[in-house]
Amino acid sequence: MCGKCCHGLRLPLSLSEAGEWLRRGGDVQLFCEAIPWPVEPEESNLQARHKRRRSFAALSGDLPIRVVVSVVASFDGPCPNLLPDMRCGAYEARPLACRIYPAEVNPFIELVPASKSCPSEAWAADQPTFLQGGRLVNSATVIAAERFRLNDYHDAGIRARLCDELGIGVASLANEGFVIHSIERDVMTDALARIDRDAGAGVEPANWQFVTNNTSTRDTLLEIGAHVYAHETASSSRTMQYLAF
Ligand code: SF4
Repeated sequence: MCGKCCHGLRLPLSLSEAGEWLRRGGDVQLFCEAIPWPVEPEESNLQARHKRRRSFAALSGDLPIRVVVSVVASFDGPCPNLLPDMRCGAYEARPLACRIYPAEVNPFIELVPASKSCPSEAWAADQPTFLQGGRLVNSATVIAAERFRLNDYHDAGIRARLCDELGIGVASLANEGFVIHSIERDVMTDALARIDRDAGAGVEPANWQFVTNNTSTRDTLLEIGAHVYAHETASSSRTMQYLAF
C-alpha cells in the first residue's frame, strides 16, 4: 500500500493482459531485441532454452536470429489504475507482473530485497515469509511467476504474428539495449483482434534489422551478413526509440 512499485513502470504483459490494459484506456509498447542464433544451443543450457522458448525465429539478412518481443505497459508517474489512497483500482484484473512483484519475472535473476522499491518494514520479521535462503516461498507468488513464464512461452509465436501485422521488424542487439515501438491504442487493439481471429496461423520467418549505437557492433553485424538499420533514423522516428543500456 505504499504505492512505490506502481509508479514510473515498464510493466511486461501477456497478450491477453495487453488487450485488457488497452480496454481500460492504457497504452502499450513493444520492446524488441534480437540474438544471433547460428546454431541451436545444448539442451543442458537452461538460460539459452529459456531465451529460445520466449523468442521466435527470424532472419537478419543471411543471419538466423531469435527475436524477443516484450509487450509492455509504459507510464511515467502513477499507474493509471492507482487510486489516491495507493490501492490498486484494478486489483482483481491486475497483471501477473504486479502479482509477482517484488519477485523477479525472469527465473534467472535472483531477488535482492535492497534493490526493490519496497520500504524496509516490508521485509521485517513480523511480515509473512516471502524469501527463505534466497528462495521464493510465498506460494501465490510462485504460482503467479510460473503462470507468467508459461504465458510468455505460449505468446512467443503469436508475438511474431503481431509484429508481422504491425509491420515491425527492427530490434536492438540483445544486452545492448531495446528498440521500443510505440503503437497507437486503436492500431494495437485492431492488431490484437486480428491475430486472435487468425489464431493458429503461422508466419514465415521475417527479415529483421538491427539498430545499434556502437560502431564496432555495427561492423561485426554487417560482417556476419546481418541487416543494420541506421541508428540516426531510429532516433528521429516518432514511433521508434533506441534505448541503450
Ligand atoms: S495495475 Fe495496480 S498493482 Fe499494477 S502497477 Fe497499476 S496500480 Fe499497481
